[in-house]
Amino acid sequence: MWSEHDADAPACAGGGTAVAAAPPLADGFPFGAGLCPACGGFVARDDGRLRAHDAFRGAADEADAARRGAWFNAHGWQS
Ligand SMILES: [Zn+2]
Repeated sequence: MWSEHDADAPACAGGGTAVAAAPPLADGFPFGAGLCPACGGFVARDDGRLRAHDAFRGAADEADAARRGAWFNAHGWQS
């Protein structure tokens, strides 16, 4: 949910950007999310556009970091 009070998590400028779904790994990650061109996070999409989201500031945990690493190894950064 949107919160204007969470000053430590600024809204990312990439929200609303039209992006294709990121190609999934064998386990499905990132499950139809798109790669945000502004913050580099995987973000859920509505009608092909990134949802409003807080700017990505690092993986949430080691499992997330490992899957991000696997994804970038497989697909790399694409513009
Ligand atoms: Zn973003």
